[in-house]
This record gives sequence, structure tokens and C-alpha cells, in this order.
Amino acid sequence: MADTDKTLSVAIIGAGFAGIGAAIRLRQEGITDFAIFERGDRIGGTWRDNTYPGAACDIPSRLYSYSFAPNPNWSHTYSGSDEILAYIDRMATDSGIAPHIRFGHNVTGLIYDEAAGQWTVEFEGREPVRARTVIAAPGPLSNASLPDIPGIETYEGHKIHSARWDHDYDFTGKKVAVIGTGASAVQIVPELVKTAKSVKVFQRTPGWVLPRLNRPTSGLLKQLYRTVPFAQEASRAAWFWGHESVALGVVWDTPFTRLVEQLSKANLRLQVKDPWLRRQLTPDFSAGCKRLLMTSDYYPALQADNCKLVTWPIARLAPKGIRTVEGIEHQFDAIVFATGFEVSKAGAPIPITGIGGRSLGDEWSGGAYAYRSVAVSGYPNLYFTFGPNSGPGHSSALVYMEAQINYIVEAVEKLLRLDWKALDVRPEVQARYNADIQRRLQATTWNSGCQSWYLTDDGFNATMFPGFATQYVNQLKHVDLDDYKITGYRDPSAMAPGAESAGDLVSVQ
Ligand SMILES: Cc1cc2nc3c(=O)[nH]c(=O)nc-3n(C[C@H](O)[C@H](O)[C@H](O)COP(=O)(O)OP(=O)(O)OC[C@H]3O[C@@H](n4cnc5c(N)ncnc54)[C@H](O)[C@@H]3O)c2cc1C
Repeated sequence: MADTDKTLSVAIIGAGFAGIGAAIRLRQEGITDFAIFERGDRIGGTWRDNTYPGAACDIPSRLYSYSFAPNPNWSHTYSGSDEILAYIDRMATDSGIAPHIRFGHNVTGLIYDEAAGQWTVEFEGREPVRARTVIAAPGPLSNASLPDIPGIETYEGHKIHSARWDHDYDFTGKKVAVIGTGASAVQIVPELVKTAKSVKVFQRTPGWVLPRLNRPTSGLLKQLYRTVPFAQEASRAAWFWGHESVALGVVWDTPFTRLVEQLSKANLRLQVKDPWLRRQLTPDFSAGCKRLLMTSDYYPALQADNCKLVTWPIARLAPKGIRTVEGIEHQFDAIVFATGFEVSKAGAPIPITGIGGRSLGDEWSGGAYAYRSVAVSGYPNLYFTFGPNSGPGHSSALVYMEAQINYIVEAVEKLLRLDWKALDVRPEVQARYNADIQRRLQATTWNSGCQSWYLTDDGFNATMFPGFATQYVNQLKHVDLDDYKITGYRDPSAMAPGAESAGDLVSVQ
């Protein structure tokens, strides 16, 4: 039967790590009536899109993977994008969820039908679909953005965004510019200097850099992980707690923050001999305020004979290259934009209409907020992965996403099993939660005064979670039904036997 002909139990938006993980966990709970709607033509999200040379995770793979899908075969401490993509492919195939994926389905809107307790999922150029619950997993960094530089359209050379790499373009012997010095740029530059004639790196702000000690995993160790699963769990736990300790210096501004800065400065002194270059590469904000850069290759690459760091601000792009504010025009065959993504901090990622026609885009116009990052009052049976204030500053996104997925699957399973119409988080519970989050954020490095993509233009932090990963995971351990208004289809007396405590308080429609 086509998805359009019936009401799905669950519609999942996006087939990245989060969408795939949610589907696997649904299936494990016996829920099979779901579809994943993906606008692209293959799964993988971030790791499908970011295939630039050097693309890799900067969290160890043992932790940058799901605990319910351990992989004893990671080749290195940190994996490259190919290997991560292969891991996602394997999860989808082995779990049997692959047939549930509908490619080429760009979701353009969600509308809640309060009477029926169903969502209408709208697509670009396709018939809509109805679903009782929706898991929105469109990814925090899935829309590549070019910077707003005057004259960008006038540049006549080759323009490449890091997340839309042009593998047909041969950089050999070319004069190349890289704009941006964030997490992607520090991976790209060391690869480009190997082939390009020259590379100029345009820096606005230097980041704090720590070495990334990447080691191949020996055959013996892989064998151990394959035969003794506990060894793999222990290794993951060790990485987890190691990263938790880093929170002390990265999430909050503490004496540990100075320690991180001293370590980073020592690394800079060790790798960069020229004092002037060192000065240009020294940040003037607290470590942790922006994402720490994990690389051992970037500083050596910057000092290669064919590489130059440019710190003059860019004035505009011209037909042949980049003009900096002091009046010099740098000419290039190609410009690489390592300039990041449109991050949804204010407004909704797609138009979403909830109870009584309320618009999530309007409600989030000053900055997004949710209950425990997953649910929003007035939008029943709709759940977000990587929602507001779920960003980790110091640990693996997958640890956070796994917690979200488990929580969401528990809520969805309850709703379907007990045949409830709607689970809607109570507004006062959500307000209390967010007041607490914003209060706690005031003490973090992200709100300490530096500018970053974590904050809206008004300085509202809708992205990061102000605490340890352990705290984040613990708050999502169980769905507390007292936090929700539960609406049934029928009279409460007719509710399924054993309806759980707060479920007895159903309101009758
Ligand atoms: C280069 C790079 C390196 C990173 N490295 C790390 C790291 O080392 N450690 C870490 O913790 N995190 C890292 N991240 C963050 C990373 O984004 C997350 O770890 C994770 O991959 C996000 O998974 P996701 O499923 O939420 O989103 P995505 O992987 O972005 O997947 C979202 C999917 O939804 C689809 N989609 C979006 N909108 C729609 C729509 N309207 N309709 C239909 N489909 C839609 C997209 O096409 C995409 O396939 C990195 C990010 C980048 C860009």
C-alpha cells in the first residue's frame, strides 16, 4: 500500500544518523509501520554531504557511534567520512529498515489535525502523507551556507562549498583560497597544500587547537573487540568519561579552561616557530566559547612553502579573486568556502502548524526552545532530534542523539500501545525547564561574550546544553507522563486496561 493511502504510525524526516537511529530503535520495539522521508538520494546526512578531502570526525569513533550498534572494526581512533558513511549504510541494511526509506521526499510543511490527532506531512511536488506521530530529524548542519560577502556572484573562478565538494575539479597546480578556519577548514587545508600550487587561508578569528592523536587500530585489538564485547564497552566508557572531564574546562569558564588554553598554547609553540604567525593564530576568547579544533596537521600545513595565512578582513569578491580591506586583490583559480551552515536557532526548520493554527516559526522567531530539547507544547506527537539546547560542547553528538531517540521511542510506543490520540507537553512544565536552561547557560563559556554560531544575533542561546552529557542523558531516561497532557480517542472509562498513571487523566474530545 502506498504511504499516501493510509495513516502511518510514525513519519521520520531525514535519513542521517538521527533518522536512521530512530528507525532502528522503533523496529526493535516492534513498531514497523513507519517511513523515513529523505530529500536526498542516499542516506547518511552529514556524512553523505561532507566528502571534502580530509573529512573525518573529531570525536573518537568508539564514542561517535551508537551503543546499540557497536562496531569493532573502526580502522582508526577517529574515522574518515567514508568509513562513517559505510557504518551508517551497514546499520540500515542489517537492521532491516532500508525498505522504509523514501528518497527524493523534501518535507515542506507539517500541519496538525487536532480532531484526528494526526499530522499531515507535506512534500515538494508530491502528495501529502498522514501520520500519528512525527520525528523531525532534519539535522542541525544540513543546509550549507555561503557567506554574505559583497560581489560573491561576480567571481568567475571555481566556487566550492566544503559540504558540496566537487570531486571532478582537479586542484593540481591551481591557486586556491580557503575562506574560513573552523572545523572543516582545518581538515581541508592540509590536504589541499599537497596538490595545489598555492593555498591562501583567509582567517577572521583563530580557534583554540588541540592535537588529534589518530592511531590505527591493530588487528589484535579489533579481534578483542569482536570476541569480548565488554572490551569495546569499556573502551567507549573510558572515552565517555574522558570527554566528561573536558566539560569542566569547556562548558564552564573555570581554572580548567585556563588549563585547556595553556595546553593549546603549548601545542602552538611546539608546532609554529614564527612568533608573528603564532600571534595571528592565538585566540582572544575563552577556550570552549567556540568549538575546539582537533587537528595535528593544520599548523604544519599553514607553514608549508605554498601556504599563506591572510588575516586582513575580506572587503569583497572580484571577478578574479578576493579583495581585502587594505586594497590588495588576491587572484585565484578556485575558492573553497569552509564557511559552515545555516543553523536554525530562530524560526522553525520547516513550516510547522500546531494546535489551533499556531505557527512554530512565529513562536521560535526570537529563538527556539523545547521541553528537554525534544517536544514543544502545542505541537502534540511531534518530536525533534538535535532540537533546541541539545548541542554538546565537549562530547559526541551521538551520545545525545541516542538519549533523544530512546525517549522519543518510549513516548511513541506508549501512545500507539495505549491508543492515545495526543501527548502534548504541558506549557508550564516547558516554561520551567527553559527558565532553568537559560539561567544555567549564563554561567557557560558560550554565553561569556564571544560571537559564535551557537547564539542568535540577540545573544539568545538556543543551541547548547549547559551541563555534562550525563545530565543530558539522565533527563531523557524516561518519559514522565505527568509532564504531558494526554488526550484519548475515547471515554476515559474505555481506555486500555493498565493505562499508565497520568494516562488516567485523559481529557475526552
Ligand atoms: C563536517 C562535519 C563534521 C562533524 N563531526 C562531528 C564529530 O566529530 N562529532 C560530533 O559529535 N558531531 C559532528 N558533527 C555534527 C553532525 O552533524 C552530527 O554528529 C550528526 O551527523 C547529525 O546527524 P543528523 O541525523 O541529526 O543530521 P544530518 O546528518 O544532517 O541528517 C539530516 C538528514 O535530513 C535530511 N533533511 C533535512 N531537511 C529535510 C527535509 N525538509 N525533508 C527531508 N529530508 C530532510 C538531510 O538531507 C539529511 O540527510 C559534524 C558535522 C559536520 C558538518
